[in-house]
Amino acid sequence: MHIHSLLSPCGDNDMTPNNIVNMAKLNELDIIAITDHNSCKNCAAAIKVGNEVGVTVVPGMELTTSEDIHVVCLFPDLESAEAFDNYVCERLMKFPNEADIFGHQYIMDENDEIIDELDMLLLSSCDISIMDVKEIVNSFGGVALPAHVNRDSYSIIAVLGEIVEECNFDFIEVSRSGNPDNYNYPSITNSDAHYLANISEKERFIELKENTAKCLIEYLSNGRC
Ligand SMILES: [Zn+2]
Ligand SMILES: [Zn+2]
Repeated sequence: MHIHSLLSPCGDNDMTPNNIVNMAKLNELDIIAITDHNSCKNCAAAIKVGNEVGVTVVPGMELTTSEDIHVVCLFPDLESAEAFDNYVCERLMKFPNEADIFGHQYIMDENDEIIDELDMLLLSSCDISIMDVKEIVNSFGGVALPAHVNRDSYSIIAVLGEIVEECNFDFIEVSRSGNPDNYNYPSITNSDAHYLANISEKERFIELKENTAKCLIEYLSNGRC
C-alpha cells in the first residue's frame, strides 16, 4: 500500500507502471497502492496496467504536511484521487525540481511512454496540517494513515513526539523494521518501495469481501468491509 513510481524524484527510474505492476504480479500480490510524493499523476497508467494483468491498483499519494510529516493517502477510485491531487497541487510549496540533484519526475502512460515531466519539486511540503489531514482526505472519499511512524524522519512521532490523538487517525503505517505492537492503533506494514526489489512478496493479508480499492478504503476506515 506504499509504492513509489519514477514520478517521485527518489523513485528509481525502473519504477515504471508496467514494471511495478508486473513485479507485484510475480510476487503474487493481489492488491497494491501507488503513493508518489504529493502526486497521483502516475496512478491512471498503473490502474490500466493492473486491469490488464489482474492486480488491483489503489490510487494514492504520500502527502507531506506543513509540519514535514508523511501521510499515506489512499482513495477508492481515480476520480477522487485526481480531485485530491488538484487540491494538493494548489497547496504545494512551489520550488523548481533540479533533476540532476533530486531525479526526474516522469509521468507515464500505460505503455511506459513518458508523457510529461513535472517541473515543480514534489519533495516540498504542502499547506495542509497534520491536524486537518484526516478530515480533508475523508472529504475526498479517501483514508489517511501517518506513514512509517517508527522512522526517525518525516514521521508523526519524529516531529510531534507521539501520534497525537486529536488527529483522529483510524489506522497507522509501521514500516517493516518497526513493531506494530508498540502502538495503540490498528496498523498496516508496507514496503515503501522505491526500487523494484523492495516490493514485498505476499507476506501480509487483509481479509476483504472484494479485491477492490473501495473495499480496502472501507476496511481502513472502520476495520471491516
Ligand atoms: Zn515517507
Ligand atoms: Zn514513501
